[in-house]
Amino acid sequence: MSVTNESSTTGAVPSENQNRQRVALVTGASRGIGAACALALAKEGFKIAIHYRGSEEKAIELAKRIPDAKIFRADLSNAEECQNLIKQVTQELGPIAVLVNNAGLSIDQVLPFAKPEDFETLLSTNLRPVFLLSKLCTKGMIRQKFGRIINIASVVGYTGNGGQSMYSATKGAITAFTKSIAIDLAGFGILANCVAPGFIQTDMTDALPDAAKEGAMAKIPLKKFGRPEDIGNAVAFLASEKAAYITGSTIHVNGGMFTN
Ligand code: NAP
Repeated sequence: MSVTNESSTTGAVPSENQNRQRVALVTGASRGIGAACALALAKEGFKIAIHYRGSEEKAIELAKRIPDAKIFRADLSNAEECQNLIKQVTQELGPIAVLVNNAGLSIDQVLPFAKPEDFETLLSTNLRPVFLLSKLCTKGMIRQKFGRIINIASVVGYTGNGGQSMYSATKGAITAFTKSIAIDLAGFGILANCVAPGFIQTDMTDALPDAAKEGAMAKIPLKKFGRPEDIGNAVAFLASEKAAYITGSTIHVNGGMFTN
């Protein structure tokens, strides 16, 4: 059954209960944007799989706030752990209907001083898991005739940014990957989209020097940094029936920072 078409043709209102049967896996949900995505999807009624790597206590605390949520540990830079993650979530909660590829890190350096090993780390943490987890989820999504892959990209994947050539390369690649799989998966009822945050207040941006924060603020027409909830709301929208005709797209959530 294709949920998207059925609800639009019969006029049936997709209920929260319908989502309650569906499993949403959010990677890097222990803190920051990922935690906000997990909470926003829980409000939509999804059964939540909270993935974390090192921040176990935070993952446990978050799970206490979400009925029926379960936590799963994996270092996503390890391909075998990616595979085990999907296996465990499927065994314990059921096939994954919504995958939010959020886990990521930033290593900043101007090109002459950039280290090849740091680039490898960014590729194996930010990019390869997006490919692997998306691929591993598709079988279950095809069987469900429903799937949403939502990838957290970045404004700098579009605009570029000084000192962030390595990071922005991984994020630009995520956007191109998402557009391509949107075409591959369209016939199976699976939608793939990105949310591209601007400057969101999390541990990642708290670690930046004041000069970098001031530089970012100067580029934001709304004159404030974003909150993790701003991204969670966009992700929940893309997972919902309201987004049934959106695929291969990017929602930019950046206070107007993206001006290209
Ligand atoms: P954050 O607060 O630093 O959280 C990063 C998350 O990624 C944590 O949950 C961490 O898990 C997980 N993670 C890191 N390396 C991992 C690995 N090897 N394996 C598994 N999990 C790993 O970051 P954030 O600001 O919320 O960012 C979330 C996403 O949004 C990232 O993809 C980031 O690039 C993107 N983004 C953020 C901003 C921003 O302004 N904050 C802007 C654009 C895009 P543990 O803590 O459990 O280890």
